[in-house]
Amino acid sequence: PYNGPSADEILNKRNGFLSPSMFHFYEKPLNLVHGKMQYLFDSNGRRYLDAFGGIATVCCGHCHPDVVEAIVNQTKRLQHSTILYLNHAITDFAEALASKLPGDLKVVFFTNSGTEANELAIMMAKLYTGCHDIISLRNAYHGNAGVTMSTTGQSIWKFNVVQTGVHHAVNPDPYRGVFGSDGEKYAKDVEDLIQSATSGSVAAFMSEAIQGVGGIVELAPGYLPAAYSTVRKAGGLCIADEVQAGFARTGSHFWGFENQGVVPDIVTMAKGIGNGVPLGAVVTTPEIAQVLKRRNYFNTFGGNPVCTAAGLAVLRVIEKEKLQENAHVVGSYLKERLMDLKNKHEIVGDVRGRGLLLGVELVTDRKLKTPASAETVHIMDKMKAMGVLVGKGGFRGNVFRITPPLCFTKEDADFLVDVMDCAMSKI
Ligand code: PMP
Repeated sequence: PYNGPSADEILNKRNGFLSPSMFHFYEKPLNLVHGKMQYLFDSNGRRYLDAFGGIATVCCGHCHPDVVEAIVNQTKRLQHSTILYLNHAITDFAEALASKLPGDLKVVFFTNSGTEANELAIMMAKLYTGCHDIISLRNAYHGNAGVTMSTTGQSIWKFNVVQTGVHHAVNPDPYRGVFGSDGEKYAKDVEDLIQSATSGSVAAFMSEAIQGVGGIVELAPGYLPAAYSTVRKAGGLCIADEVQAGFARTGSHFWGFENQGVVPDIVTMAKGIGNGVPLGAVVTTPEIAQVLKRRNYFNTFGGNPVCTAAGLAVLRVIEKEKLQENAHVVGSYLKERLMDLKNKHEIVGDVRGRGLLLGVELVTDRKLKTPASAETVHIMDKMKAMGVLVGKGGFRGNVFRITPPLCFTKEDADFLVDVMDCAMSKI
């Protein structure tokens, strides 16, 4: 039994001592005290099926015993900085991670977060190309520091600080975009941007394969090959932000970009990589990696022994428990069941995504695609009351994000859809 402070007490303290910009899901936020695989438990001992923890970092399942053991064992032996001395936990994970990437992508830089990884990737691209301009997509989310906040393409995550040299291309959004699912047509806008807003040369193009925060928008097929080719002609590097779509989540592939058949020059990752510990990484080619030798560069804790021990355990669990295959099988099943909901409820405008990275967009009018933002909050609350947690996204706030730990089962999928169905029937 839980004897700690109540949700209200915690909320009061939070209001008194933490950033006023912090937000939470649900009018009455959950006071979580325990996690086990795909389940979360609140202070009343109530169990919730967690269909959103994947995005909040958990890939193998909450407190996965193998990952916990790796963390505890390493913590007992040594926790230190990544730099200055040798430790095998760091190199073992770097080697294992590099083996998961295609082509020449073999050099790993560790960071503490996705933001840091993207900041570093963009800096390397600028150094390598000698150019300054960056292309990213409208509706993207890449982080909340200097240049990553600029590459983010949604006003709600951006402050009015100086943002130069970042240009946002038309989003290849098959549901709302003007060119439907024709990726190559959208990619023409990258060419137009380069020709109109830059000197004709760019440092980099950065994009997710499936936009997470943006509401699980799967880039139109054919977009990345065409955009990459245009960017490379303008001298730029192609950066894949795999913070959400990576680590087996899309099921059919280990990396999101593989779904579009491209090989990036730089890949960034975070969240699922450590199953909850603060860890991010940038992986690139030996040639590009050389740029950081121009000065001394380090990150005190990025990829420290404890976090990399966790990372290696995560890769092993993904293999051992066939989590990529599970994401594919369970994800496909779940998507089919969500499609059935679309046939049943007018409010469901679109069901999309791959593997266990799925989105359900709610609209009050299917033709006009009017965002059903209030209804989304309402249904989400009802689902919580029935014991299922889903996420919310898209800058209109009308998309359910379904990104459970990859150990999600078909039974979990059934429960989730039944609960969503019931909640939708009630509004
Ligand atoms: N890239 C993507 C695609 C993300 O979703 C996020 C976080 N939501 C980030 C980068 C930034 O990661 P972090 O919050 O770890 O800095």
